Amino acid sequence: MLVDFHNHIDLYQDYASVVSRCDNLGIYVLCVTTTPNSWNGTNKILSTSAKIKPALGFHPQLASSRIKELETFEKYLPMAKYIGEVGLDGTLENKKNLADQLKVFKHILYCVNAAGGRIMSIHSKQASQLVLDEIRNISCTPVLHWFSGDKYSLTTAIDMGCWFSVGPAMLRSKSGRERVSLMPKDKIITETDGPFAQNRNIPLYPWDINLTFEPLSQIWGTDIVETKSIIAENFRALLR
Ligand code: MN
Repeated sequence: MLVDFHNHIDLYQDYASVVSRCDNLGIYVLCVTTTPNSWNGTNKILSTSAKIKPALGFHPQLASSRIKELETFEKYLPMAKYIGEVGLDGTLENKKNLADQLKVFKHILYCVNAAGGRIMSIHSKQASQLVLDEIRNISCTPVLHWFSGDKYSLTTAIDMGCWFSVGPAMLRSKSGRERVSLMPKDKIITETDGPFAQNRNIPLYPWDINLTFEPLSQIWGTDIVETKSIIAENFRALLR
């Protein structure tokens, strides 16, 4: 079983062939989106797939320019089983929009909480502590995607029971592997973040999830078969 719990399938140039190859390979994919307005189009692309699920998203890097789409987010929320990509981005280029980002994220969390909670794929680049403070009292199942926070926020996230989605790009870096080694083995799920995340300048595809098993096995001291079964069991537990 292959699971890519954070991929932007609709953003590949050849998305139709990516969808059909995933279907043929039987890969479970969470297709996150970046704006509420893309929800309908993404659903259409995925309408024939049994294992590729859409997530209703509002990327923090677009929060400021698309703030009017919050109404659209609210409109589609009842139909959306999964939420993502949402969150906060504190990087230099995006910091200046942090007030708008917070407005959008807080409102999304308020709505999700009122709707009884959702599984959420969350971006927290250079804003991990802020994100954790916001989600702390929200009824939801947070999956921190490509978590890059410091040890203190990692410990906080673990104590809060957060899930983590980790991919080939994160596992390539020493600091990424260090973080993964500190995360509870039963709270980890695999992702690629394709087509944004790349391997040697080529976008990662959902089947590149295969690149995660060897580094995860090294970190856990498991063999590949065991590693795959841990991820499969985690995936089932996450959806329960
Ligand atoms: Mn992403």
